[in-house]
Amino acid sequence: MRIATITNFAYVATVVLTLSSGVALFMASNAEHAEREAVAQSRIVDSLTDALEKEAWALSDIAREAVIKKQPETVQSWKTRQQQDVDLEKHLAALRDRGASDEELSILRDGLATLDQLEDEQRIAIADMQAGNANEAMNLLYSPSYEERLSEAEYRFAHFRSLADQRVQSAISEATERSLRLRTVSEIMVGLTALLFLFVLGFIIKHRILRPVVTLSDVVNRLATQDYNVEAPVLAQVDEIGDMAQAIRIFRENGLTRQRLEQERDAEWATRTLLARMTQRLQGCDSHQAIFRVVSRFAPQIIPDMGGRLFILNAQTKRMKCVARWGLPPGEDAPFAPESCWALKRGQLHSPARDSIDMPCEHLAPAQALQAICVPLNAQNKSIGLLTFDNTHADKEPPWIYLELLAETLALALANQSLRDTLTERAMHDSLTGLFNRHSLDETLRNMLDHAMVESSRLSVLMVDVDYFKKLNDRYGHDAGDKVLREMARLINETLDDTSVAFRYGGEEFLLVLPGADETQAKKIAEQLLRNVMNAQMIYESQDIGPVSVSIGLATWPRHARADNLVRAADLALYLAKEQGRGQIVVARNAV
Ligand code: GH3
Ligand code: MG
Ligand code: MG
Repeated sequence: MRIATITNFAYVATVVLTLSSGVALFMASNAEHAEREAVAQSRIVDSLTDALEKEAWALSDIAREAVIKKQPETVQSWKTRQQQDVDLEKHLAALRDRGASDEELSILRDGLATLDQLEDEQRIAIADMQAGNANEAMNLLYSPSYEERLSEAEYRFAHFRSLADQRVQSAISEATERSLRLRTVSEIMVGLTALLFLFVLGFIIKHRILRPVVTLSDVVNRLATQDYNVEAPVLAQVDEIGDMAQAIRIFRENGLTRQRLEQERDAEWATRTLLARMTQRLQGCDSHQAIFRVVSRFAPQIIPDMGGRLFILNAQTKRMKCVARWGLPPGEDAPFAPESCWALKRGQLHSPARDSIDMPCEHLAPAQALQAICVPLNAQNKSIGLLTFDNTHADKEPPWIYLELLAETLALALANQSLRDTLTERAMHDSLTGLFNRHSLDETLRNMLDHAMVESSRLSVLMVDVDYFKKLNDRYGHDAGDKVLREMARLINETLDDTSVAFRYGGEEFLLVLPGADETQAKKIAEQLLRNVMNAQMIYESQDIGPVSVSIGLATWPRHARADNLVRAADLALYLAKEQGRGQIVVARNAV
């Protein structure tokens, strides 16, 4: 029930109770008034009957005195007094109708009749005295019957007074009781009014003050501990408590805004920290694979709501190849031509859903194309790769800045890695023949020897030198010599299997490392190479510059040398091959 309804009810009830209490009080007052009236009437009746009784005695005494003294003044006095008695009787008769009972009236009538009889006898006695019959008059006024009537009159008035007193007493007690009852009713009404007032006051204090204050206090305590999830009550009341609730609501909304801003700032800070850490890790990568692993690990954290893929441009096929994927099921990974991606064509981020109308990319399935975000990886004005994100949270604004930062960082790392790969490639390979150069020999040979030791297998090396190369140079020119060296490299690669490695050891010298090959197997390979070179047709600018022969020194670990002088053993064997006439294979002697 609404508080206004309750207060209205309480108001009406209070008015009714107050009026009822007033009426009861008024009636109680009336009862007291009736009581006072009864008392006053009783006093009047008492005094009248008392006066009449005394007058009766006094009139009788005057009549007796007149009869005895026979004086006319006394007779006159009796007459005057008798006339006064008549007035008193009339007065008393007038009172008779005021609530007196029949019995009282009958007794009063009898008393007054007795008085009349006495007065008649006195009148007769005075007349007898005046007629000279004094004795008769005396006898009459002192007769026993006369005395008896006097006593009877006295008795009747006393009886009348007694009955009247009883009636008045009864009326008084009844009026007193009624007055008391009405006063009690009035007091109960006043008590009820007070109780009702207290109840309504308590109810209003509880509902309008205590309860809202307790609720607001709870809300303030929770807000003080920065618990902004608490609901601030909406109070319609227009008072200080309503103002307080309004202020608390504003305070909470401000707190929520501040908390949201802090959360956004923290999230931004966390994302930037992640980006910085990813940049550091990318700097520590020594291969493209390592870069792909770093991206797969960090990208889902930096862009948490979107799954993504990384595509890299394959230089040979000229197609974009998927090299990493996160937060997405397998599929959509097929290589595609860069021209089918609007981001790669324009060199800018492409998101069809960002603008009202835009072109979807063809390399994506139609269902995903509209919600996808493609970010090109640009380095030195070229797109070297592509990041695609599946933006399934259409209602949420994608973190464009972090998408761009991620792509920039990644593009830089990939470009650096490609540059490093190129430099490493150049540093390790001979530019003329494409074979490994001598710089990478030591490490490769040591690794292969370590492996052979662990596996308890063999390892052979062939030192190959073109015979009379200086003369060939002199005769056909340096470029023709270069052509022969390139052809030598091709023949060597053709002769060797995948496990073997060939190095350009010097000008026209090559070192071939044959892991797992013992002397016999190595010799077979050397003979095959010898034959392949002999049979090769060397053409330079349509001119036959062959035939070319090679001399080969062969050494096998551990049979012919220790690990640290295996190459030297092969070199010495080559020297012997030259000495013995060239175009042949010489196997190293034991323990050089
Ligand atoms: P031998 O049979 O004793 O090995 O005699 P040779 O002439 O092959 O050996 P020599 O050491 O006398 O000459 C090697 C020549 O190889 C000298 C050098 O000009 C030439 N040469 C070294 N490097 C290159 C190169 O990269 N290209 C060309 N065209 N010639 C080179
Ligand atoms: Mg040489
Ligand atoms: Mg030579």
